[in-house]
Amino acid sequence: MDNKTIFQKIIEKEIPSDIIFEDELCIVIKDINPQAPLHLLIIPKKPIPKLSEASKEDLKILGHLMLIVGNMSRKFDVDDAFNVIINNGEKAGQTVFHLHLHLLAGNNKLNLPK
Ligand code: AMP
Repeated sequence: MDNKTIFQKIIEKEIPSDIIFEDELCIVIKDINPQAPLHLLIIPKKPIPKLSEASKEDLKILGHLMLIVGNMSRKFDVDDAFNVIINNGEKAGQTVFHLHLHLLAGNNKLNLPK
């Protein structure tokens, strides 16, 4: 039985994706179904199923993901306005159970509280 998530398969290059950036701790890809002109997914290589399951030993990874968000926002020149979303749990809309941060920018369709 294959229990790998789609993101694990992407990380292991078993299936193709639009890879923007990669280092030893994470990978950044374009979302296949973008909800904004720029919609990136920042994904740790460690398969943490969801944020609420992260532990103290993941501190470095979690901090790293945040810094990569900042790097990506500058790379794509959206550092003045972007949203970061983490869906945690099925009821919150999580569909892939491998932690990931959504980076959205540019007239996105989200109606976030001001
Ligand atoms: P979530 O609903 O927070 O779990 O987000 C999962 C995201 O993964 C969705 O925005 C999907 O569009 C995206 N997604 C699913 N499969 C792929 C894929 N093969 N390549 C890129 N993004 C994907």
